[in-house]
Amino acid sequence: MFKNKEEFKPFESKVWLSSPTMHGEELQYVTEAYETNWMSTVGANINEVERIICDKVGCKYAVALSAGTAALHLAMKLAGEKVYGGTQLGQGAFRGNRVFCSDMTFDATVNPVVYECGVPVFIDTETDTWNMDPVALEKAFEIYPEVKVIVVAHLYGVPGKIDEIKAIADRHGAVIVEDAAESFGATYKGKQTGSFGDFNCISFNGNKIITGSAGGMFLTDSLDAANKVRKWSTQSRENASWYQHEELGYNYRMSNVIAGVVRGQLPHLEEHIAQKKAIYERYKEGLKGLPVSMNPFDEKNSEPNYWLSCMIIDKDAMCKQVRGEKEALYISEAGKSCPTEILDAISSINAEGRPIWKPMHMQPIYRMNPFVTRDGNGRARTNAYIAGEALDVGMDIFERGLCLPSDNKMTPEQQDRIIEVIRACFE
Ligand SMILES: *Cc1c(COP(=O)(O)O)cnc(C)c1O
Repeated sequence: MFKNKEEFKPFESKVWLSSPTMHGEELQYVTEAYETNWMSTVGANINEVERIICDKVGCKYAVALSAGTAALHLAMKLAGEKVYGGTQLGQGAFRGNRVFCSDMTFDATVNPVVYECGVPVFIDTETDTWNMDPVALEKAFEIYPEVKVIVVAHLYGVPGKIDEIKAIADRHGAVIVEDAAESFGATYKGKQTGSFGDFNCISFNGNKIITGSAGGMFLTDSLDAANKVRKWSTQSRENASWYQHEELGYNYRMSNVIAGVVRGQLPHLEEHIAQKKAIYERYKEGLKGLPVSMNPFDEKNSEPNYWLSCMIIDKDAMCKQVRGEKEALYISEAGKSCPTEILDAISSINAEGRPIWKPMHMQPIYRMNPFVTRDGNGRARTNAYIAGEALDVGMDIFERGLCLPSDNKMTPEQQDRIIEVIRACFE
């Protein structure tokens, strides 16, 4: 139960969840673009970020786009076309077919499936890395053996169970789209995320590990796919002197100005990861002895980028908490707490936390979509929960977990005060 104390004074300037951190080189590359008049979607900054990122991730081709969502959209289009043949205007690349998707993720992972007229089928989450559960994925193939595309995200910068998921995909001849928007720089068995799927994406949105203020990148080893994305993202112009179009086009290319910001940030990626790792470890140490644990990862096989530090409260240390569609209520109890109380307490000292990304199967927009748990009975479990009985893994993590302030400009002293506030919630 949280009681505010004298020492819990609000920070003078807000401690953010995760905000842009500039270093100076960004301005230099942006100025270069300005002074040489390369202010469009062509230029040295774009070429350089594509080259550097291929090098870093270890993929053959990278195409710089206006957003991670744009990269995912064109990745879905490629995946759909690969499986179902050329796009029919108005029917999308998926033509009404089902696509297996990560469930506990940001909605930009799955919306592009719908842009291409696919039907997302959500796969429940595992407790070891908070990503797509391979056991539930296998179950989903039993129920929907015809599915040929899987969209998999790495939540909060923690690599999922890539080997297991890839083995299942191979066995069923399915294409993988990897959403590494949050995990740029994270590795699994020494390989970078964003290099495991057939068509992959990273994001440079303002809150990610490095940023261009906006922007994203499509990654692949297929020259044909990279060429298609280059063409589609620049309005699908054919090689003619007038505007000639044989395919649907998009205005998705990255600007050379944005690319200047990304180019200036790239040398600082590892530094940002080290800062985020120190934050994660400070929380882990500082929260010892409380009935909570940090978001888990596979310590043997993976190195996260530690983009967001999260914690989850033990079941028996949860006070009563009820969430409606937009508001939450809880009942304070001595020795117990809940995400809503902790987020309120953190916010009372001018710091920003956030609930766990609400799973897609719980979102009103996707209420009619299938959801597969390990026992193959996802929707029945959701309904049982409504009656106050059972939980699926994603819903459970959403209930008990939260994202902690993880800004790499947060000082150790500020973080200590946040930790003290969290401790006070369990008094
Ligand atoms: C941020 C994010 C995206 C979208 O990237 P944008 O660049 O903001 O379009 C996609 N998927 C996940 C998991 C994300 O966190």
